[in-house]
Amino acid sequence: MTDESIHGTRDARGHYAPNRHLKIAPLYPPKLREVWAWLPSYFLPWNIIFAASAVVYWLWFIPPVEVMQTLAPGWILRLYVVNAIAVALFYGAFEARLYMSRAQEGRFKFNPRFPGDIKSKQFWFKSQNVENVLRTFLSGVTIWTLSAALMLWAYANTWGNWLSFHDAPVYLFMVALLVSFLHQAHFYAIHRLIHLPWLYKHVHSIHHKSVNPSPWSSLAMHPAEHVLYFASVFYHVILPSHPMIALYQLHKAGFGAIPGHIGFDKIEIGDDVTIDAHAYGHYLHHKYFEVNYGDGLVPFDKLFGTFHDGSPQADAAMRERLKTLRAAKA
Ligand SMILES: [Zn+2]
Ligand SMILES: [Zn+2]
Repeated sequence: MTDESIHGTRDARGHYAPNRHLKIAPLYPPKLREVWAWLPSYFLPWNIIFAASAVVYWLWFIPPVEVMQTLAPGWILRLYVVNAIAVALFYGAFEARLYMSRAQEGRFKFNPRFPGDIKSKQFWFKSQNVENVLRTFLSGVTIWTLSAALMLWAYANTWGNWLSFHDAPVYLFMVALLVSFLHQAHFYAIHRLIHLPWLYKHVHSIHHKSVNPSPWSSLAMHPAEHVLYFASVFYHVILPSHPMIALYQLHKAGFGAIPGHIGFDKIEIGDDVTIDAHAYGHYLHHKYFEVNYGDGLVPFDKLFGTFHDGSPQADAAMRERLKTLRAAKA
């Protein structure tokens, strides 16, 4: 087991904060040495998994083009089942290890409490987990699947600018590299939008009920947020692209919602081996609401003054900013 105190500190209430402060990607402008050091974290561990899942889908689970030319319930339902099983396995693995068997107990957990231990009237059946699981499968996986089906239907009918890997390998590789940037820019834009008071109250507040997020919080959203969230796949119907990369875009949203909601800074995978969960930035969003709308890959938070790197200085700056905002509203 790894000693968490080497990497961070706990405050009087037992909340854990890592010592290292968050940074935006070193691309604005790019600094060669820093980009080189940062590059592995762009691919590992997450983006490789999401991209590989798209390849697996494309090779084994996406039906032939003739089938997809018609929006028929059969193949779409099968795709729902594949997505639901994949989500159950992927999300379930984090839930089972970190929250059910509690393999690393509370080590590296930001909030010392486990949502499963707490009953709260604001959730369906008084349970954060039960409501979040239901929202994930009822509307999350459903709207994910329908978004995929619409994209694949467009592809099968050659609506859009579809290219083959044979004809444009370098271009398509570049598009694949841009998937994460596109995801973050899209998410930042819709996320700012649904923080507008009316939309927050009626739509996004559902997601924010998980102040102490756990894996099943990832896709616990209002259906309208699911529609906006998964709409990133349609950039690939407009821009020249390939359906497998469009699937990667969807998987970046669907499976990629997990890292920000793991609730742990590091995942122990061996006696002294941990992997960085990349969870702290979005955890701070769930804790403080008005910071870190994106994750720093695209520098919008930095540009618009909403970046919180986890430091006491960023904390003070956030409080000052919110005070000014409140004063302006009063
Ligand atoms: Zn969230
Ligand atoms: Zn939010």
